[in-house]
Amino acid sequence: MATLSLEKLTRRYDGAEGLALDALDLEVKDGEVLCMVGPSGCGKSTTLRLVAGLDRADGGAVRIDGADVVRVAPQDRDVAMVFQGYALYPHLSVAENIGFPLRMRSVGRAERETRVTEAASMLGIGKLLSRHPGELSGGERQRVAMGRALVRKPKIFLFDEPLANLDAALRTELRVELGALLRRLGTTTIYVTHDQVEAMTLGDRIAVLRGGRLEQASTPRALYEDPATRFVASFLGSPPANLVDCTREADAFVAGSLRLPAEHDRARITAAIRPEYISVTGEDDPRSVQATLLAAEPLGAESLVHVDAGGVRITARQSGFFVAERGAPIRLAFDPSRVLYFDSDTGARIRAEAR
Ligand code: ADP
Repeated sequence: MATLSLEKLTRRYDGAEGLALDALDLEVKDGEVLCMVGPSGCGKSTTLRLVAGLDRADGGAVRIDGADVVRVAPQDRDVAMVFQGYALYPHLSVAENIGFPLRMRSVGRAERETRVTEAASMLGIGKLLSRHPGELSGGERQRVAMGRALVRKPKIFLFDEPLANLDAALRTELRVELGALLRRLGTTTIYVTHDQVEAMTLGDRIAVLRGGRLEQASTPRALYEDPATRFVASFLGSPPANLVDCTREADAFVAGSLRLPAEHDRARITAAIRPEYISVTGEDDPRSVQATLLAAEPLGAESLVHVDAGGVRITARQSGFFVAERGAPIRLAFDPSRVLYFDSDTGARIRAEAR
């Protein structure tokens, strides 16, 4: 069990323009699974490499249980990392691959066998121990790679997109198993992913990084329902929230045919409306606005309905199959209480009480 604190962690690569990590402050609590998300290049891998000791920071501290580990060698940090590429030894059996880190630490044979069997059974690969990596599927290989981390019983797990190489069905299966496993183990974990579903389902909290800085860290639900910035609102959610730049006209914020009640005194504002809070409705709905269908994408359980609302592009989510011709007139209604507002210049959230 361990807490992990990153304090003003900074990394500047030679020749790079900006900072890869810019005074990042982040705490992972004992036993917590923290999912780390953000656009490519925001510093996720750099963070993991600094925690693992594979790279040196230019400033700040990495603390495990309060002690700065900057001068501690990677093998002495008690941190185990699982990468996207499995990096298994092809000439070693599954059992030898999983047991390899223990052998490196001179753990005795009997203890090694017990721990390998235990890790393999947790991962459902107990029957594959005598096989070689070449005789395994992609999913099985990734389980072996996880077994190699598990067997060490480290203080901290670091996962770098471990499921990204797998096909969709296998990714779902392993995600569910991994979620249950991480909860059972209760090991402090950072899990980097670009998969929204993994972040929402595996993380006790999600940290959103942007340009080497922490944008927001909170529970999946709080990030989704109560984002602190426009960036977070647009980053989480698939499809993302509709971001609409509005200008004030009398008592309303207006963009295209949309009119939102203007409850506060600003000339401009950015509204974020999630697709699920917009519905296609009938002529007689007094709250509705006029739009034109650009495209409908029926996905089975739901359809994504893309419309032009007086020059503003909006995506709505409708349950079931939505079928209509491109160019067809559509009436849209949305729940004003679900609209989030942001400062158009800074992207900071404007909360109801401050409006
Ligand atoms: P992410 O994992 O979020 O995609 P990275 O941590 O890999 O982002 O990279 C953060 C920033 O640092 C990016 O701008 C990237 O180009 C830069 N970077 C990463 N590794 C190196 C390196 N070895 N040399 C120079 N720049 C690097």
